[in-house]
Amino acid sequence: MSRESLVFFDDEANEVVLDEREAASLHELTDGLESATVSACQQCRSRVLACLALVDVLDDAPPHPRSKDLRELAEEAPTPHVFVQDLISRCRHRVWRDPGYAEWRGALDDLLGEPRGVH
Ligand SMILES: [Zn+2]
Repeated sequence: MSRESLVFFDDEANEVVLDEREAASLHELTDGLESATVSACQQCRSRVLACLALVDVLDDAPPHPRSKDLRELAEEAPTPHVFVQDLISRCRHRVWRDPGYAEWRGALDDLLGEPRGVH
């Protein structure tokens, strides 16, 4: 298995991790998840996704090995949004400055159990 590339997670720290190959094929099949994106860093692949739109995107896209896992994450998420962190990029998200960033950051801190990186 190649290294971890993207992690999808919700506000309760449930997560689905994609390796590089899975992340690349998902990106291709879903047009970069563009239609489900609520807010995104302009410099990496970290983003906030709308759960309902994500389910639609996955349903409309050709089958992907992780579609089922991502669909379950989106359907069972406690909030209307799920989050994606780019595990490859060393981006500090300096230009990502809308309310989506704060929401993403808060969920990420919950996922990690403690704040790290930018404060
Ligand atoms: Zn970024």
